[in-house]
Amino acid sequence: MKIVETLIEETILPRKDKDWKFALAASPVTQGWTVSIRAEDGTVGYGYAATMNHYGAPHAAVKGALDALCKPLIGRDSRNIAGILDDLDRVMLGNNLAKCGIDCALHDLMARRLGVPVCDLFGGAAVREFPSLRILPIKSPADMAKNARALADRGVQYFKIKIHGEVNEDVERVAAIRAELGPKAHLTIDANQSYAAKDAIRALNLMAPYGIDLAEQPVKVADLAGLKAVTQAVPITIEADEAAYSLDQVMILVRERIVDAISLKITKLGGLRKTYAAAQICDAGGVKYRMGAHVGPMLLAAHAMQLAAALPGIWYASELSEFDALTEDPWEGLNLVDGVLHLGRCRVPADDHEPGPEHVVSDHAEEVRGGHQGVGDAGGPCGVLGLEVVLDLVEERHLAGLELRLGDLGEPRHLRVRGRARLGRRRRSGLKRQTRRAQSFRDTRPRSLDKPYDGVAC
Ligand SMILES: [Mg+2]
Repeated sequence: MKIVETLIEETILPRKDKDWKFALAASPVTQGWTVSIRAEDGTVGYGYAATMNHYGAPHAAVKGALDALCKPLIGRDSRNIAGILDDLDRVMLGNNLAKCGIDCALHDLMARRLGVPVCDLFGGAAVREFPSLRILPIKSPADMAKNARALADRGVQYFKIKIHGEVNEDVERVAAIRAELGPKAHLTIDANQSYAAKDAIRALNLMAPYGIDLAEQPVKVADLAGLKAVTQAVPITIEADEAAYSLDQVMILVRERIVDAISLKITKLGGLRKTYAAAQICDAGGVKYRMGAHVGPMLLAAHAMQLAAALPGIWYASELSEFDALTEDPWEGLNLVDGVLHLGRCRVPADDHEPGPEHVVSDHAEEVRGGHQGVGDAGGPCGVLGLEVVLDLVEERHLAGLELRLGDLGEPRHLRVRGRARLGRRRRSGLKRQTRRAQSFRDTRPRSLDKPYDGVAC
């Protein structure tokens, strides 16, 4: 099943909190790119490539890497995920955040074609509920306690306190939040590399009496000796985050027993496949792991959650619901209920959202498709419906109406059908016109797209 088209679309989502800050940066938005990969049968898979300066991946650089990596995908067999990803690693070192977008889009595409959720590609769902660890961005101790209370009132039980390397002030933050939430709340801290090892030991020993379950990345990425010293000196579980920036690095952290736990992220590790491998390494080496912060649209969270479902060894609350702190998410379908995310799918961009992938949605989809389950982890129930199928439904009058939210229909972006419409004669003729345009698009594609693919060469 050849890949015939790739699309890279900018995805910038504003944060609800315009003063959002952590030890390394402050930003009112989260940036990234949505990758769409279309196979010759019209099925489209979606992935998200995050932009993160602190992983050496600024916005334009991720786009540049995606441009180079996506181009040679055309003509390749979409089912050959392992081969494609291996080739991408051969032609380009690193750039894991860009590769994550492609990895996820390929798995998404495969799942949609097979009609299974993505977790089935990794062994099926062993876990279906995910308690959510929520981030408290850096503010004054009083303001952080207030924000923690707001989350607790929505049912959240796990909190990540961002700190920034000032021992006394950071301890005050922890004390204020514990006082506000009481003894049952689960507290963790994330220093984002802001401490020297000895200061981290001092701070964590002062915080320990307040009950801290976990401390993330207290020291610089490169200071593995310092990280190990902190791990051995404090009674709190120490977790590597930024230091676990690649599969190779996870191997070193586990082999040398530098930390007690590792924060796995599909973004920094280059996608689902490598993150699954990282979890296996942790399992084998006796190091704890969980899914760390996946900050981006619901699409990113859905993919990370699907993988988490196939990882029963996850030891603690994961961070799969940071989409809740963003606005203008083009995806929908995941809900945080009483601080817990339930295994599910995100779907269709909302009506009239300009960028991003599009689908047709029908409440009657299962019925009219004769039981064919065309669902992927991140796909709406009609993700596999093509324009031709819609036309058939209209012609045969199986339905009294069909809800069209947006009409990607597996075709290029210019085939959008906006808004909701009842299918009457006027709509039918419109769809037929678009079918002709789709055919025209296929006919005018460069001939080179139909040639056998020789290999990856940017
Ligand atoms: Mg972190």
